[in-house]
Amino acid sequence: MQLRFIGCGDAFGSGGRSHTCFHVTGAHVNFLIDCGASSLPALKRRGIACEDIDLILITHFHGDHFGGLPFLMLDAQFGRRTRPLTIAGPQGIEMRLGQVMEALFEHSSKTRPRFDLKIVALTPEQKYTFGAVDVTPFPVVHGESGGPFLAYRIEAEDRVIAYSADTEWTEALVPAGRDADLFIAEAYTFDKVVKNHLSLKTLEAHLDEIKPKRLVLTHMSDDMLGRLDTLAHTTASDGMVVEI
Ligand SMILES: [Zn+2]
Ligand SMILES: [Zn+2]
Repeated sequence: MQLRFIGCGDAFGSGGRSHTCFHVTGAHVNFLIDCGASSLPALKRRGIACEDIDLILITHFHGDHFGGLPFLMLDAQFGRRTRPLTIAGPQGIEMRLGQVMEALFEHSSKTRPRFDLKIVALTPEQKYTFGAVDVTPFPVVHGESGGPFLAYRIEAEDRVIAYSADTEWTEALVPAGRDADLFIAEAYTFDKVVKNHLSLKTLEAHLDEIKPKRLVLTHMSDDMLGRLDTLAHTTASDGMVVEI
C-alpha cells in the first residue's frame, strides 16, 4: 500500500503547497483523505485517475480540506464516471456539500449524478467499513466553525494509517495514532502555541504515548517551512510517496 501526498499545505498556500489531500492505493484500496480546494488540478498533475477513487474521507469543512469536492464532483459528472463513490466525513456533511457545490457551481447540487453516490456522516469512535478500508474517526479540537473535526485511524491491508487533521493537542490523538504504521500529524508551528493548531514541540511531548512506527509532519506554516533543514522528523512535500 502507498500514500502519496497530493497536497500538504495549509489554508494560506504556504510554500506554494497544494491544500491537504492524500491519496492511498493498494491491492484492494483506492481512497483520498481530505480534498482541499486545489486538489483536482494537483491530482491530475500527478496523473491520478480520479474515476478510480472509491472513497473520500473528510476531516472537517474548512476549504483547504473540503473545498475541492465540487470540482471533483463536476469532473466526475462530465467525465462520465460510472464507478460508485462514497464520501464520508463529520456530521452535517450532506448539507455542507450541497452548500459548497451551490456556491461554486449553481444548480450542481440538484444534478443527479450518473454514478452511485453515497454520503456518510460519521459518529466519532465508531468503526466503519468501506470495502477493504476500516475507518475509526476521533473527535479533535479546531475551533468554533468548520466542524465537527475528526482525526482518522484507518486500517487497510494489515496496516494502520492515522491522520491528526487540524487540531490543537487533544488526548484523542493517542488512540487515533497509537502504534500506527504511518502517523501523519499537523505541525503548524515549531514551538509557538497557537489556538486550534498543533506545534511540533507539543506533538513531540506526546510521541512517547502515541509511539507511531513512522511519523510524517504536514500542514506546516511558513515558520515551520523555514526550519525544514533543521528538523529531526520526516516532513511531507507535495508528490512525496510513502510505502506502508
Ligand atoms: Zn487546514
Ligand atoms: Zn482547518
